Amino acid sequence: MSEQVPLLELRRVFKTYPGAGEPAPVLNGVDLRVASGESLAIIGPSGCGKSTLLNIMGTLDAPTSGTVTFDGRDVVTLNDRERAEFRNRSIGFVFQFHHLLPQCTALENVLVPTLVNRQAKDARERGMHLLERVGLANRKDARPGELSGGECQRVAVARALINTPRILLADEPTGSLSREGALDLTKLLLELNQEERIALVAVTHSLEVAAMLGCIYELNGGALTARRGNAV
Ligand code: ADP
Ligand code: MG
Repeated sequence: MSEQVPLLELRRVFKTYPGAGEPAPVLNGVDLRVASGESLAIIGPSGCGKSTLLNIMGTLDAPTSGTVTFDGRDVVTLNDRERAEFRNRSIGFVFQFHHLLPQCTALENVLVPTLVNRQAKDARERGMHLLERVGLANRKDARPGELSGGECQRVAVARALINTPRILLADEPTGSLSREGALDLTKLLLELNQEERIALVAVTHSLEVAAMLGCIYELNGGALTARRGNAV
């Protein structure tokens, strides 16, 4: 296992936001390897840099220094177009709030990422399959306003998977759900992680949610420590 190229690798990643006063690094030399198909949780106090880290893993933000490689390929130095294409194809995102388009149906929302750079030929079929998989086939024509918070988050998960990404990055995906809803959604994410061999990285406040994933890392003081599972 360990001799294989990791799916996603961060090496000596630093991030400093320019701002008032003396800038302190939010990320202070983070090293992280995510293998294909694994699941890991990132925990840590509010404001410690979890979203910053996830955004850098997903190429939504660039590190101040350090490298991010995907399948051994440097993704920091891609140009904007290449990076957007790579992200759309290889990475799925789920956030705390679903960010569904209110005027579109559940199925249309799931299909949004397919409108960018790929022919919509098989997309509808896969969209229906995913809605079925997240338990919402019978709500395909419902608009977000007609769905519960948990249902909207399931639509957002289906949307994140429509382009068959290699990794799903979830930033507090259960943060607006009830405890029961949070455990249900995490169970679903793990099933998809295993069935489709999509690596899953979830930032969470909930130790209960974190404990369901394969390993747990804690971010504190800009450094990442393995709390359980694979050593860094
Ligand atoms: P977490 O997700 O763990 O709550 P964040 O990654 O959102 O933490 O933020 C980490 C720190 O970086 C916080 O102090 C936050 O205020 C700061 N920060 C986040 N984004 C920006 C930004 N775009 N510009 C300046 N500071 C930021
Ligand atoms: Mg955050």
